[in-house]
Amino acid sequence: MFAEVIVDVAAYPIDRPFDYSVPEMFQTIIESGSRVKVPFGNRQVLGFVTALKSDTDVPLDKQKPIGELLDIEPVLTEEMLAMTKWLKRHTLCYEIDALQVMLPSALRAKYEKILRIVDSNAELPQSVQALFQGKDSVELKADESKELLSTIKKLIKDQILVLETAIKQKTAVKKVRMVQIEADVNRLKEIHENVSNQAKKQKDVIKWMIDHAGERIILADVIKNLQTSNAVLQGVLEKGAATLELEEVYRDPYADRTIDVSKKHSLTDEQHLALSEIIHSYDQHEAATFLLHGITGSGKTEVYLQAIERSLKDQKEAIVLVPEISLTPQMTNRFKERFGSLVAVLHSGLSTGEKYDEWRKIKRGEVKVVVGARSAIFAPFQNIGLIILDEEHEGTYKQDDSPRYHARDVAIWRSEYHHCPVILGSATPSLESYARAKKGNYSLLTLSKRPREQALPEVSVIDMREQLKNGNRSMFSLELADAIRLRLEKGEQMVLFLNRRGHSSFVLCRDCGTVVECPNCDISMTYHRHQERIKCHYCGEESQVPNSCPQCSSEHIRFFGTGTQKVEEEIARFFPTARVLRMDVDTTRKKGSHEHILKQFGDGKADILLGTQMIAKGLDFPNITLVGVLSADTTLHLADFRAAEKTFQLLTQVSGRAGRHDKKGEVVVQTYTPDHYAIQFAKYHDFISFYNQEMMNRKQFAYPPFTFVVLIQITHEDVLMTAEYAHKAANWLRENLSNTAEIIGPTASSISRVQNRYRYQCLIKYKKEPMLPDVLQQLIRIYRTDWLKKGILMSIDLNPSSI
Ligand code: ADP
Ligand code: ZN
Ligand code: ZN
Repeated sequence: MFAEVIVDVAAYPIDRPFDYSVPEMFQTIIESGSRVKVPFGNRQVLGFVTALKSDTDVPLDKQKPIGELLDIEPVLTEEMLAMTKWLKRHTLCYEIDALQVMLPSALRAKYEKILRIVDSNAELPQSVQALFQGKDSVELKADESKELLSTIKKLIKDQILVLETAIKQKTAVKKVRMVQIEADVNRLKEIHENVSNQAKKQKDVIKWMIDHAGERIILADVIKNLQTSNAVLQGVLEKGAATLELEEVYRDPYADRTIDVSKKHSLTDEQHLALSEIIHSYDQHEAATFLLHGITGSGKTEVYLQAIERSLKDQKEAIVLVPEISLTPQMTNRFKERFGSLVAVLHSGLSTGEKYDEWRKIKRGEVKVVVGARSAIFAPFQNIGLIILDEEHEGTYKQDDSPRYHARDVAIWRSEYHHCPVILGSATPSLESYARAKKGNYSLLTLSKRPREQALPEVSVIDMREQLKNGNRSMFSLELADAIRLRLEKGEQMVLFLNRRGHSSFVLCRDCGTVVECPNCDISMTYHRHQERIKCHYCGEESQVPNSCPQCSSEHIRFFGTGTQKVEEEIARFFPTARVLRMDVDTTRKKGSHEHILKQFGDGKADILLGTQMIAKGLDFPNITLVGVLSADTTLHLADFRAAEKTFQLLTQVSGRAGRHDKKGEVVVQTYTPDHYAIQFAKYHDFISFYNQEMMNRKQFAYPPFTFVVLIQITHEDVLMTAEYAHKAANWLRENLSNTAEIIGPTASSISRVQNRYRYQCLIKYKKEPMLPDVLQQLIRIYRTDWLKKGILMSIDLNPSSI
């Protein structure tokens, strides 16, 4: 018997399964989808069994056996194995990357470096002897002293020691000690009788056990509750009154939280219509995709909840994806409140062990709903009835590392496998999705009103150029300052939002609002700090940083990027009485801090919540009546064709935080470009007009959804090598693709060096290019067999979220 195994070796020229023979003892239990430990070269690596067969082309003297079978129950289902094949084709990744992305990190291999003595007769220096302490192998830690490491290096050279890699296997399952009390009361009484009166403590414990015959209790609880000791209990166990057993338990991150039960709302007409279309398709076992376009607070979540309720009736499962940043307790609680312990939650705030436990509950069918971030789309359910992507436009659904998949595509693939509907929900759908809905590829469902008819907040757009002319150089316009003061007087709460995203800075004139743009493209130039130059990432145009505005000659040139800390200082200066909570990457590093800040704000411990895009979503506090956007321009001038779309989405999302309940909300947006259509349409909450305008622009400049773009990135430690191979790639594409495909670049990437590697990129823009998959496969083959050896790394992204 032979197994085809995909091995865990990164950046290897050959991406195909290797055959291993299956030792006798594994033959009856091994299955496809199990993990194994196999020899590869001169080390042991993790592998996944993808097929079993009775023959192999590998000659007898080259055949190697599987070393260890790590799972009796396969960790990957047949569906997942099929999905990896598709992911590999669809994203051009290594198969091992596709396999690993489906599993919680607890099940991915971790390796350790093992140092072993091979020449046992050799004299070892003292320091090395101390390391081994009489054993003949030890784990080598990276933090050993430099001297010791160089001694070791020499011994390896002299073939006295060898260094090996081994799979670190630590069981991630948590077990606790349980006391299983004898079930037979008479037997317990008998034991009680026989214990001498001197052992009073033991007698007391056994007496208590008589009242708890047959029960199973955590050992630690027994000791605590009876105020007894381990030694006493040990004596009781020896007498046969109880046995000690290890039991697997789940680590539950939500254990200490009380969750209320929520009742379902009776739906509005629009909600009802949307739900019945979804349920109709569900009943037909169709793989249909719905785009649920509903304004903020229109009750999309209630539609999700009731659709899930329908699928639960049939014992089917549901996957709900939400962007990582909106995985606030508020959002997850809404699902827990409705479906209780049937809900598992998966996000980056959980520990490895907690994630593994949630994953096992899903795999074992002990939960029926998972609410999670991007990778939860791979939840190992086997009978899915519904898949939901909330805020479907969010960039976080696209993974930027291999495998470079979009959760939306995986959702649709799985819906076809399970014959179930997908719901894509958003107040501001992505242009791609809305265009597909208009074409009829997705079914469009609309929620145009809020259930209790609350009006959307009034948005005022403040021209910061005017403020400057009137001598106000602070970051608060007079209007925003007044609005803040009013809230402080009335004791209402507010959110101040600093729209800061990405790394790119742009160059802006403080006097006339001009942003330096590329002469050839409708895109702003990016400021490159290393070289003190500005560049266009689309056509490669570049020039020196201007010292004065090209439009009005003013010398008030500014490179944008204001931090939240600076804003916090300014608030303290202008509004000394205001109590501020700041929420950004710096204040939310610790586990649970995110939740803690929101709880404080919810409890009224602060007047102002100040933050980055982290606070744009999911917040639902009744007392927020003001949202202030300090600078709407930051996303607008990113060198990205999606800049206007992202700005519109963010402004709409933050506006949605104000006045969600009885009190009316107000939004103040500060900007240097008040007339920009993204800002104007956001002011009027007008998605459709924004969509139409943006589609015209995309058409004119041939950007998605009118074309497709592919981003190819080349990196190397040497800048000349990087440039050389980037040109090689671009030239090769120019020679092999038809001339309807436009190849842009290569140019240096906007962050031109990361971790000491230089980065170049080129773009392919195309409408129809049947040759593309083949051509890219060939390029990958050249790369893996030749360039890889020279230290070049190449990545191909068929659907980059930004460029
Ligand atoms: P969205 O997800 O579209 O932003 P939510 O689902 O958060 O909107 O709904 C906004 C608010 O309206 C929530 O407090 C929710 O409980 C409430 N709600 C939803 N549907 C109804 C309904 N049919 N009747 C009354 N209230 C509703
Ligand atoms: Zn100017
Ligand atoms: Zn350009």
